[in-house]
Amino acid sequence: MTKGYHRPTKATVSLDAIVDNYFAIKKFADNKPVYAVVKADGYGLGAVPVANALQNRGADGFCVAVTDEAMELRDAGIIAPIMILGLTDPDDAWLHANMEIGVTVSDLQYLKYAKKHDKEFGRRKLHVHLKIDSGMGRIGVRTVEDAQAVVDYIAKHPKKFVLASVFTHYATADTFTDHGIDKVEEQSAFFDNIINHLDFSALAERPVIHQSNSALSIWYPEKTKDALRFGLGLYGSNPSMNDRESTVDLTQALTLETEIIYVKQMHAGDTVSYGAEYVAEEDEWVATLPIGYADGWKRSYLGLNAIVDGELCPTIGRICMDQTLIHLPHEMPVGTKVTLIGTNGGHTVDIVDVAKHGGTIAHEVLTSLGQRVPITYI
Ligand code: PLP
Repeated sequence: MTKGYHRPTKATVSLDAIVDNYFAIKKFADNKPVYAVVKADGYGLGAVPVANALQNRGADGFCVAVTDEAMELRDAGIIAPIMILGLTDPDDAWLHANMEIGVTVSDLQYLKYAKKHDKEFGRRKLHVHLKIDSGMGRIGVRTVEDAQAVVDYIAKHPKKFVLASVFTHYATADTFTDHGIDKVEEQSAFFDNIINHLDFSALAERPVIHQSNSALSIWYPEKTKDALRFGLGLYGSNPSMNDRESTVDLTQALTLETEIIYVKQMHAGDTVSYGAEYVAEEDEWVATLPIGYADGWKRSYLGLNAIVDGELCPTIGRICMDQTLIHLPHEMPVGTKVTLIGTNGGHTVDIVDVAKHGGTIAHEVLTSLGQRVPITYI
């Protein structure tokens, strides 16, 4: 995708904020290993610059979702441990073994297929992360027997496989609404039961046990086991959508700014944008911004305030592919800075504000940031 360098819409990512957030959670978790989750291109903010900044400060490891994301990090010189959280093709096991990229395994079948390629592992072992489905219902084994079968197979083939970790993922750690059941406790008991019944004695080393994503890390510190997988919090957003105060100081890493590129006075009856749904009731000043849904500025953000010269200015009319319209309190010059995410003159619009307005979550706001928007790292 071509970057829009010749327009004023720019994202700025503070790598210092990300590093600070990383060490804030690490300190909170008694210095246990923290795997920085940089899947989906570092939640849209750039996996390579984020991982480089963290690796330079000694980060313990990284999590991605797909093979190519892991390869991108290795190609960029990331030598810290990497694990792929999603399922991968066992035919690619030789690639993962050779690049020392850990894979998530959800059944014994995977290992049997992967073993067919073990000559291509050379002297390397495939690092296996055994996923337990404790109630998320996506991937993972669901019984002690199935988990033990994976452990035993690895124990039987110690030259080819190593069980690096056993882990699970939570469905509700970030939501404090009443589900009728305490799903966190239910999942926690399920995972503990499996771990407590697994026999690791035939392995050379006991695997790392981990379950904490950002929400569990922040609000259920007693559930942090040997390590953490920290994603959203790394980028500075509160995983509960600000419903609950974070126990850890997080700094938002992303600022999204643009400039007014056109200003006009509308008169009563004039309409704005597609569908002609917005109709001026009286004389009003309207500014055009060079950002639209192709940049990740979604149509559902209609009505959201932008900050212009310290004033809150609502988005009006449908958001277009490349342009967005805002109401101004008075005439303002072309070139005036507009803050869409960030702080300007005492007002802040943070990612959670955007997510709430758009009926989504902070993860989606971040990962939706369009490829066309250039990012400056500070
Ligand atoms: N672990 C797994 C398995 C995940 O799928 C994710 C994110 O989706 C994370 C950890 C990180 O979650 P968060 O960004 O909420 O910290």
